[in-house]
Parts: sequence; structure tokens; C-alpha cells
Amino acid sequence: MTVFRDLGSLLQWRGRLQGSLAFVPTMGNLHAGHLSLVRLAQARAEEVLVSIYVNPLQFGPEEDFASYPRTLDADLRLLDEIGCQHVFVPTDTLLYPQGLAQQTLVQPPAHLSKVLCGAHRPGHFTGVATVVLKLLHLIEPQILILGEKDYQQYRIIQQMLSDLHCKVQLLLAPTQREADGLALSSRNVRLRPEERRIAPSLAAALAELAQLDPHSAPGPAALALEERLTQAGLQVDYLELRDSETLQLLPRPQAGARWFGAARLGSVRLIDNRVIP
Ligand code: AMP
Repeated sequence: MTVFRDLGSLLQWRGRLQGSLAFVPTMGNLHAGHLSLVRLAQARAEEVLVSIYVNPLQFGPEEDFASYPRTLDADLRLLDEIGCQHVFVPTDTLLYPQGLAQQTLVQPPAHLSKVLCGAHRPGHFTGVATVVLKLLHLIEPQILILGEKDYQQYRIIQQMLSDLHCKVQLLLAPTQREADGLALSSRNVRLRPEERRIAPSLAAALAELAQLDPHSAPGPAALALEERLTQAGLQVDYLELRDSETLQLLPRPQAGARWFGAARLGSVRLIDNRVIP
């Protein structure tokens, strides 16, 4: 396995590469959700590159950048075990040589980036879009793979690729869950045992909402479930029915629309979503 930590070695390898390349960006602390993206990459391209980088630009000043789990050695072992040959582990100075304050930013459109998580994490999606575009320019993959668990992120990157005429094919990999429904997430390791026990209630609420009768108004059902989650000990940021493409609020459930949820539990912010079948 080759771990690229500087630009020279990465670009030299990229310059010599013949076959198709699929790219999986991550922030590390890899779990089976990440590995499913890597497996999809391996099935769709001849070469796969995974990046591991906790991007400071996408964290707000009050957020968990410092405490984000960093487990590089274990991550590299996991990737090696599933036959991933190439990993990019950039430093802050490699990606932001002028520092964060002087960085040119990619500002995604407000209708996608200021709703849902964007309303609770100002600047988050600007940080995400900026780092993904930088990585794409360095790596020049044919295929980019993102997870459905962060559906809003996927939708924003999809729009960026289209608006900025990026010639990369974007694939969406389905959300991987624990047996009790909790979406796998690097932050789950910070849940205390009691919090871990109630964490699946967000996924359960979204699954229940996704079964609502198409003629019913979503508001009362969402309120009732929000109440239930609050009673269980979660602080709900949102529980909303939106169009999967425009991310606009919808007055009625319809096939292909999506329920989005986010809630805080102890020091962890859980997010999840469910498409209506
Ligand atoms: P992260 O390391 O959290 O930035 O995630 C890296 C990529 O893995 C993103 O495209 C995520 O959407 C994806 N991902 C994270 N958790 C899951 C999951 N449980 N199932 C599928 N994909 C996931």
C-alpha cells in the first residue's frame, strides 16, 4: 500500500496512471460505511484512491474539530485488508498553503446549503465544497464516490460538479447501518453506553415518517416524533420532509422525497435521512 503525504509523490503517481481512477474522500476513523464506498470504487474503476483528512475549513469555532476521532494507523490497516492500494493523507499546509483565512472559497447556492445542516452549521458546506474541489483538481479521478448518509452533502457536491463543469462521474453509495438501524458514523464512538442505546431512535423516527400515508400532512407526524425523541433524551435540530433534488420543503409525502433528521445526543450530533419508497 502506498500512502501519499506530499504533493510530489501523489502527482508523480497520478501522472503515470493508465487506468480509470475512483476517489473516496473521508475524514478517517474508518468504519464499514466507508469501506462500502471503497468496495464500490474497486468494482467501478481499475484504481482507487482514498483520502483521509479532517478538514478544518468545514468545522465551526464551536464544533468538534479538536475532538474528532483520528485513528490513522487503524484506518490504514483496514484499507490494506480490503486491498486498497493508494491513500492520500494531506497536511493542512499542503491543502491550505496560504492559511484558511486567505483561501479562495467555493460557495454553494443558498437553497441547498443554508437549509437542514447548513442552517445549524454556518459555513460548513462552503468548507466541504472547497476541499472536495481542491482534492478533485489534485487527484483528477474519473469517479467520485459519496455516501447517502450525508445526502445534503452529496446533493451540494453534485450541483457544484454540474455548475463548475467538472468532468467526474458522481456515485452515491447507500447508507450502512448497525443491526438496530443506527447509521454508521465516525462520531458514534463518542456515544456513552446509555446514549448508544437511544441513538437508533432517530433512524427509527425517519423510517416511520417514510411510511406515512401520501395524503397526510407531514407536520403533525413530525412534531409527534420530535416530541418522542425529545422525551428519549435527544435534542432535535430538525425533522423535515424535502424534495431530494431541490431540498425544498414538501407539503405532502411523495415517492422519491426524503425525510431528513438531525439531533444532538451528549457531545454527538447525529444525522440521517430516509427516502420515501
Ligand atoms: P466522513 O469520513 O464522515 O467525511 O465520510 C466520508 C464518506 O463516507 C462520505 O461520503 C460519507 O457520506 C460516507 N459515509 C459516512 N458514513 C456512512 C454510512 N454509514 N454509510 C455509507 N456512507 C457513509
